[in-house]
Amino acid sequence: MMGTKLRHFSPLANLSLEELVPNNNFYRRLDAMLDLSFVRDLVEDCYACLGRPSVDPMVFFRLQLVMFFEDIRSERQLMEVAADRLSVRWFLGYDLDEPLPDHSSLSRIRKRYGVEVFRRFFERIVEECFEAGLVWGEELFFDSTKVEANADVDSLRSRSIAENHLKELFEETGSQEIEDFDTPHLSPDALATDTLPMAGDESLKESNARSEGWISRKGRQERTFSSGPRKRTADRLLSTTDPDATPMRLGEGETKLGYQAYYVVDGGKARVVLNVLVTPSEVTENRPMLDLLWSSVFRWRIRSRRVTGDARYGTRRNVAALEKAGIRAYVAIPNFDFRDTGLFGPGHFRYDPEKDLYICPADQRLHRRARTSGNRGTQYRAKAEACNACELKARCTTSERGRMLYRAFEEDFYDRVRGYRGTFAYEKALRKRRVWVEPLFAEAKEWHGMRRFRLRRLEKVNMEALLIASGQNVKRLLAFGGRRPKKLAQAAALRLPSASGHQIGCAREHRSSYSWPTKAFFQQAGPFLIQGTQKRALLL
Ligand code: SF4
Repeated sequence: MMGTKLRHFSPLANLSLEELVPNNNFYRRLDAMLDLSFVRDLVEDCYACLGRPSVDPMVFFRLQLVMFFEDIRSERQLMEVAADRLSVRWFLGYDLDEPLPDHSSLSRIRKRYGVEVFRRFFERIVEECFEAGLVWGEELFFDSTKVEANADVDSLRSRSIAENHLKELFEETGSQEIEDFDTPHLSPDALATDTLPMAGDESLKESNARSEGWISRKGRQERTFSSGPRKRTADRLLSTTDPDATPMRLGEGETKLGYQAYYVVDGGKARVVLNVLVTPSEVTENRPMLDLLWSSVFRWRIRSRRVTGDARYGTRRNVAALEKAGIRAYVAIPNFDFRDTGLFGPGHFRYDPEKDLYICPADQRLHRRARTSGNRGTQYRAKAEACNACELKARCTTSERGRMLYRAFEEDFYDRVRGYRGTFAYEKALRKRRVWVEPLFAEAKEWHGMRRFRLRRLEKVNMEALLIASGQNVKRLLAFGGRRPKKLAQAAALRLPSASGHQIGCAREHRSSYSWPTKAFFQQAGPFLIQGTQKRALLL
C-alpha cells in the first residue's frame, strides 16, 4: 500500500540547538580550535561608546569564515544559508527563534572596518599557526596568480573621460566613496607602536609617514612609474565598473579585467600563508617582492635562509637585495647572454674578478673604462687596433673603436645565483615551489571563490584575499594543529649546496643557524616603528 505523508509541524518543546548539532560537526571542531574573542580588540576603535549595539564583531568574522568554507558569493546568500542551517546558527551563537543580522549590515560593517582590520585578523591567524608550531620560517616561497575582476572588459573607457565622469557622478550623488578609499583607516598597530621605546621620536614618525610601500598603499600602482617609453594600456583606459582593475591577457588571446594576488608561503609542511597582497594586474610580479619579504621577515621575526620564486622574480634588484641580506635567492635567472643576435653576447666573454676585466673569445682583454650614463653599470672596452685586426670581428662587433661590454653593478650577485643552478638544493627548491604554492592558488580558486573576486575596488579585493588566505591558514590549523612539522626531515631534504666559492665583499654571509621565534614575541607590541640600525640588527 502506498503511504501518504501528512505535513504537520507541532511546536518544538524542550529542544536545544546544542542537542540538534552533532558532536562531530565541522563547525564544532572549528569553534573548539579557534578562539575569535581577539577580534573585539581589533575593532574597538571603530565603535562609539554609546548608541544602539551593533552586530557582534565575533559574529561578523564567524560569518566571514562560513562564507569561506561554504564558498558563498554574496552576503544575501550567506544569510539564507545561516537561516536554514542548524550548525551555522549554532556556530554563530543564535538560537532557533533569534532573528539573524540583516545581510546589508555585513557590507556596512566591512566598510567600517577597512582593510587594516582584515590584515590584523589575517596576522592573528598566522600568530596562531606560529603558536601551534606550524611555521618553519627558514624557507619562503613567492608566487602570484591572476584573478578576474568583477567587471567586464566592455566597461573600459578613455582614462581621462572616465575619471571626469566618475568625479561628476560622485559629486552629484554626494557619495563619499571615492574619498573613503583615500582616507586612511585607523591602524590597530598605531596603539601598539605607542608603547615602543622610540615612540616619542618625531623625526622617525615623520620619515615613517613619508615612506610608502606596496602594502601601506594597499597594492595601488604608481601611475608615474614607467619601465620604458611605451605607455601601458591602463594609462589610457579605465573601467567605469571597477576603476582599479586593469586589462590582463589570459590563455588563447583572451583579455579580461583583473588583479594580481601575491602569496608568501612558508616552506614548512603546513604551508602557512605568511603574507598576502593584491595589486592591479598591470603590476609586474617582481615589483612588490621585496616589500612583501621585508614585511614578512620583520613582522614574524623569522631568519629566512632562502627564498624561492620563478624567473619573474629574478630581477637584478631583487636578487641583489636578497643576497646582500644573506638570503639565498633560489630564482631562475633569465639568460640573455647567449641570445642569437648575429654577434657574440656577454656569455661569450669571461669575467676575471681578480683583475676586473673581460677576456674575449680571441683572448684579448676588455678593460674597465667608465660608468654607464644611467650609472647602472660599468663599461669595458677592447683596444680598437686589436679588434680591427681580429679574424672574429665580423661575429663580434661592427664598431671601429673596439668591442664594448656593459656589466651591471649587481652582476656579481647574478653570477653567484647562477652558481646555484644544478645544485641539489636549488633544483629541489624549484621543484618544491610547484607543489607548495601553486596548489594553494588552485585550492583558493576551485573551492573558495578566488577565480573571480566578488567585490570591486582594490581595498575590497585586498580584504577578500586576506579572508581567503586566513581561511586557508585556519584549515591548516585544523589539519595540523598540535603537531609540529618534522623539521629535521625537511632540513635533510633541503640540504644546502656546497659553497659556490663566489665571495662578494658587500654581501652578508649566508646564515647557518636559526632561532625559533618565542611565544612571548606575540605578546609584544608591533615591530613596525623600528630604526634602521635595529632593522639591520634583526637581520643578523
Ligand atoms: S673583435 Fe675584439 S673583442 Fe671581439 S673577439 Fe676579436 S679581439 Fe676580441
